[in-house]
Amino acid sequence: MTIAPIKVALKLEEEVVEAKSPQFRSILLALGLGLFGALLNSYPVELAYSVSLVIGNLAFIFAAAYLRPALTLLCALICVAPLLIIWGHPFGFLTFGFEALFVSYMRGRGWYLPTADFLYWLIIGMPLTAALILFNTTESQEYLFFSLFKQSINAVFYTTLGVILIFVFSDKLNCWVKSQQPQLKKNLKQYLHYILWVMSAFFVIGVCLFLSRNLNDIQQQQIEDKLDISSQYLGRIVENYVDEHKNAVKIVANELSAIEPSLFNDNLVKMHQLYPGFITMLVTNREANIVATSPLSLLDALPKGGASVADRSYFTEAFFNQSVYISPAFLGRSFGSDPIVAISAPIYANGVDQPIGIVEGSLNLNLFENINSYSANDREIDVVLTDENDNVIYAENNLAKTKLAKFNFSFDEADIAHNLIIIESNNFTKKRYLYRQITLKNGWKIFVLIEHRQILKLIEQQYLTIFLSLFLIFILVILLANQFANTLNKPLAFVLKELAHGDGKQGYKTIPYAAPSEFLTLYTELQKSKEHLLKQQFILEEKVNQRTTALNKANMALKELANKDSLTGLYNRRYLENKFSELQAILSRNNACMMVAMLDLDHFKNLNDEYGHLIGDNCLTYISDVMQRKFDRRSDIVARFGGEEFIIVAQSDDNKSVLQMLEEFREEIAQHNFPHNSHHFVNMTISIGSLTAKAKFSSDIDDWIRLADKQLYQAKKAGRNKLCNSDLTDASLN
Ligand code: GH3
Ligand code: MG
Ligand code: MG
Repeated sequence: MTIAPIKVALKLEEEVVEAKSPQFRSILLALGLGLFGALLNSYPVELAYSVSLVIGNLAFIFAAAYLRPALTLLCALICVAPLLIIWGHPFGFLTFGFEALFVSYMRGRGWYLPTADFLYWLIIGMPLTAALILFNTTESQEYLFFSLFKQSINAVFYTTLGVILIFVFSDKLNCWVKSQQPQLKKNLKQYLHYILWVMSAFFVIGVCLFLSRNLNDIQQQQIEDKLDISSQYLGRIVENYVDEHKNAVKIVANELSAIEPSLFNDNLVKMHQLYPGFITMLVTNREANIVATSPLSLLDALPKGGASVADRSYFTEAFFNQSVYISPAFLGRSFGSDPIVAISAPIYANGVDQPIGIVEGSLNLNLFENINSYSANDREIDVVLTDENDNVIYAENNLAKTKLAKFNFSFDEADIAHNLIIIESNNFTKKRYLYRQITLKNGWKIFVLIEHRQILKLIEQQYLTIFLSLFLIFILVILLANQFANTLNKPLAFVLKELAHGDGKQGYKTIPYAAPSEFLTLYTELQKSKEHLLKQQFILEEKVNQRTTALNKANMALKELANKDSLTGLYNRRYLENKFSELQAILSRNNACMMVAMLDLDHFKNLNDEYGHLIGDNCLTYISDVMQRKFDRRSDIVARFGGEEFIIVAQSDDNKSVLQMLEEFREEIAQHNFPHNSHHFVNMTISIGSLTAKAKFSSDIDDWIRLADKQLYQAKKAGRNKLCNSDLTDASLN
């Protein structure tokens, strides 16, 4: 009593564990794959400055082959988590989350993973990424197409990688976890498309990225070198340029110190011609009033009372400190408002220690445009020159809003490792640059810049190549797979059709396609098999026919046996009743007459007693034979009614002839000497009672027999060996 409930409880528990297990394992798979993907995503494969490939997402593509959308999404969210930190924004959750949901859902509807993923990026992923970039980043939108390119190649790569892993691990995993996704039914063509496409896409992207990574490494090194060399070179040029002009001013000061002040103007103009790097030159007296200028015309443009430069640093520094001075950049005042750098030196009179004035040259900052002329063919380099106060002396390509403004830039927080700076240009777009900064002896700084976008151009070209290769390969794969599938399918279909319909009598047609030799062997073997089969079938059919005929015969015999009496071979009572009904119905329709006679051997018991049953049986057989011979019309029924009694049913159109036949029969029996042994004979007699009437008289045989039996009784009573007939032919049948 107590054992049964325990057993039930155990069984229930087992069932619960069984039912829980697959779901539990699915969750475990989602978590495991998610963590694996997250680990891979924590170490993105760097392709170039700030461009890296994410491959951890292959984990949720893998998951989509086994799990429904909810668990695939869980896996994807875990995979993407590290990207939140690396990228600094959460958009990965959005694009990749939707990707996981979409791919898993479509896989559930019988789609291939790569096709589903391709469709996702085409109709959702790319537009979504574009929208996120357009609305959420302040960076230049030149990156947009590059980002979309990168994203889609990245997706194709991790998808194919995921699918290849599924190929490799599916068998092992199928034993462990029950897939929630339906099995894919593939025909040969689809299967070939799938395999060829996945393999070729993987190798094309893999090899291209591997090569491009090497190429980018080289490019990266070249760029670093270029930055180093150009910054050094430009630094030296600028320093030389400044030194040269510093020396020039020194020389002019010496020259002027050796001549009369009245000759200053002429000499200044002459010497200015030797140094075209100065826009203007001027000489002042002790009071800082301008006394000479070059070009000369400038002097006339000065105000009447004279122009004083006493407040300018180039005067005070050169005059009071008695040194060669280079000013910071400033805006000119007396001779136009260009930004200038002034270089000045004191002028002495012969034998006097105190200066009598200064000479100043305004360095043409626009001439710096020439310093970068060496890289004119090499447009990718931009140069910014600032003075010791970080004011822009010279800047290329609108990098500074106005000359002499502070040079502003910020560091790229998103990619600190590569030391990128962001500069907002005149049209308020922010651009990222790789840079080198060099500080010159005089405190000036040179920034050599290469726009980050330019570096991406090479990768962009590589991506375009990959894209085009993939497209070409895609078409090639379709053509190849179709061709290959046809090479197998067409001959196969032909062989099947030929074998199904041909019977080998006219011979089989040869395969009208270029089929592999294995097919030809198979075809011949199948033909042989079919011929053998047909032969066997023919033999079997023959046998079946023979057996059926035999069986039919046996059945007929059995039927006869069932209808006949075994001793005499006459019909039995059952058959009599059936046949009587048929005959009576026919004769009734024709309004014909019918005779039913009942026959009984006389004193047969005595015969048996005297000669034995065997002789009795022989006598019965003999009498039956005679009866059959006498009443041999097709419609006549001769039957053994039981024991030594017989019934004869016959048509009796001519009443007399039927009765006469009965009479003859009785006579024949009575006359016959039946041999008992070689010396003795047995004699028999038979009594007959009969009824003749219209067949319509009764359809019930018992009515006929009853009346015939009455006549038989009369015959017996009358001394036996008699025929008594009751004729109801003319009787009214009402
Ligand atoms: P009756 O002239 O009044 O007809 O006298 P009977 O002896 O013929 O009549 P009874 O009905 O008394 O006897 C019929 C006998 O027929 C009894 C049985 O021995 C014999 N008999 C019945 N069937 C068979 C049979 O199949 N074989 C043999 N040998 N004898 C049979
Ligand atoms: Mg009898
Ligand atoms: Mg009898």
